[in-house]
Amino acid sequence: MSEPIIRARGLGKAFESGRVRAVDDVDLDIEAGELVAIVGPSGCGKSTLLNLIAALDRPDAGELTVAGHDLMRRRDLDHYRARDIGLVFQLDNLVPSLSAIENVEVPLFGTVRPARRRRAVATAQLASVSLSERARSHPPQLSGGERQRVAIARALVNEPTIVLADEPTGRLDSHTGALVLDLLDRLRRERGVTLVVVSHDARVSARADRVLRMLDGRIAIGDGS
Ligand code: ADP
Ligand code: MG
Repeated sequence: MSEPIIRARGLGKAFESGRVRAVDDVDLDIEAGELVAIVGPSGCGKSTLLNLIAALDRPDAGELTVAGHDLMRRRDLDHYRARDIGLVFQLDNLVPSLSAIENVEVPLFGTVRPARRRRAVATAQLASVSLSERARSHPPQLSGGERQRVAIARALVNEPTIVLADEPTGRLDSHTGALVLDLLDRLRRERGVTLVVVSHDARVSARADRVLRMLDGRIAIGDGS
């Protein structure tokens, strides 16, 4: 078996001066190309675990290696985030004053030049989520499902190896949620990205290669190792 693309050993993150152990002694191996669902009750540490993998937050115990980067030691984390990680949140957090195409371009600043090339790359990405016609619309003019598709295009525009999604269908109606899941599935098949999805949506678990159940900061079921 090859090296897992995400590997954690004894991973820990506490808040409130150690009183809240949000992620507690987690061991985890995720292979490249896997779709892993993370489920568990509110407050069990799912978002904290994703944030550690995304290097949005620093672990305070254990080991964490993602796509060959030692996140306990590595310093240029902005570069790691920009190159290797795509993030999709429940709240799409698009910039409302920018058009759809401009939102998709945001991650390309600093990596792709000139502006004309950025526009071309973002245009292709927006087409891949079937939103070419909405390129000039601003987020307030888009439906929830359209906004989430723009957010997915933005997450994928740098061709990350890993996409982390935190309740991506949580605020979408059932039909729109299904479209977003189809899209994530297709992008995984076509690009071989590794997908880690926190979701209560049974349709996510049904499509996943593995379902990890968290409880009180720990992985209770499904680490499979
Ligand atoms: P989930 O995503 O499973 O609902 P979280 O990872 O958001 O859970 O939270 C896990 C625990 O850590 C909760 O008890 C939460 O209150 C706490 N927590 C998360 N982030 C912070 C923070 N920035 N400061 C203090 N406590 C936090
Ligand atoms: Mg959460």
